[in-house]
Amino acid sequence: MTIKFKAAVLRQAGLAQPYGQSMPLSVENIEAEGPGANELLVRIEAASLCRSDLSVVNGVRAWPLPIVPGHEAAGVVEEVGAGVTTARVGDHVVLVFQPHCGACPDCLRGDTHLCAPGLAANRAGALLGGGTRLSKDGQAIHHHMGLSAFAEYAVISERSAVVIPKDVPLDVAALFGCAVMCGAGTVLNTGAIRAGDTVAIVGLGGVGSSAILGAALAGAREIIAIDKDPRRLAAAARLGATHALADLDGSGAELIRDLSGGGTDIAFETAGTVGAFATAYNAVRRGGTVVSVGLVDPKTPFPLDVASLVTSAKTVKGSYMGSCNPPLDLPRYAGLFAQGHFPVEKLISHHLPLGDINLALDRMAANEALRQIITPHRA
Ligand SMILES: [Zn+2]
Ligand SMILES: [Zn+2]
Repeated sequence: MTIKFKAAVLRQAGLAQPYGQSMPLSVENIEAEGPGANELLVRIEAASLCRSDLSVVNGVRAWPLPIVPGHEAAGVVEEVGAGVTTARVGDHVVLVFQPHCGACPDCLRGDTHLCAPGLAANRAGALLGGGTRLSKDGQAIHHHMGLSAFAEYAVISERSAVVIPKDVPLDVAALFGCAVMCGAGTVLNTGAIRAGDTVAIVGLGGVGSSAILGAALAGAREIIAIDKDPRRLAAAARLGATHALADLDGSGAELIRDLSGGGTDIAFETAGTVGAFATAYNAVRRGGTVVSVGLVDPKTPFPLDVASLVTSAKTVKGSYMGSCNPPLDLPRYAGLFAQGHFPVEKLISHHLPLGDINLALDRMAANEALRQIITPHRA
């Protein structure tokens, strides 16, 4: 079956800012085929902008073009393809930016976030079942991370979605797909922090802010949030940070060590810069753990002093998708939200129609927003 709907298409990366003028994303009528076997047609009710969308638009991370971005979203299942077992028409689903095949060695180990076939499909701009379902005038359009959620509808693998209870508002549910997994999920899974731990969070965008919620949920004794931007620091205090520090001159690690009596048990780098990683690395106590989540520009190296790594007995970890197993973790997070323990709605700063998406990119680039929710079916 062919369906037609509006979507935000990127045809050329690297256009100049402000994006409100260069308009890298054009809202167009496109076509989709499907859903095929083991696929879903989802009506997108809420799609959120994530900082990594900027790296798609500015070309820092190269994707096959043209492409419809959007990897953090939630919606309602409108139609199911043959053989679908995990969702039914009318279910509310969170879209997940890395599908998992369920059969590769990583999936069998339980590390579904590392699924190699899922990653390969993402890199190709394709669905897990192979190829793209999107096109315009006969020209193929690629999927972003198996989803392409800046659109009224999405055709996705059933392994790119998790059904959640209907008592979670869909704008909140959208955030579960990236900000919550990459922020709070990293703290809870990769960081495995324990009640009473001291925690530093370096960088307070959507992921860092979500990490604060995760640290509060896990019962951290001290949550030291650090950023250059005073607006983000004010927001951090509202999210549960016990200390919000301005790092204006690169002395953040020293401030954190002073405040925590020699360094925190664990530090999370969520800014995606080498400077933030250095701050996190130097902020943890001897024997502490550093977890990196932000995506540093791949061309920027970090000179690690291996001798100090040994003598300080630190652990350095990378965290992809918060080490989450979405079918297991997302219903857990939804339940915690519904109980009032996990106020994810505090991460939302704006709601906007699909047509304003380029303005939303500018707002994000200027750090004037936390999470901005696009509602494609509302004007
Ligand atoms: Zn994201
Ligand atoms: Zn797999």
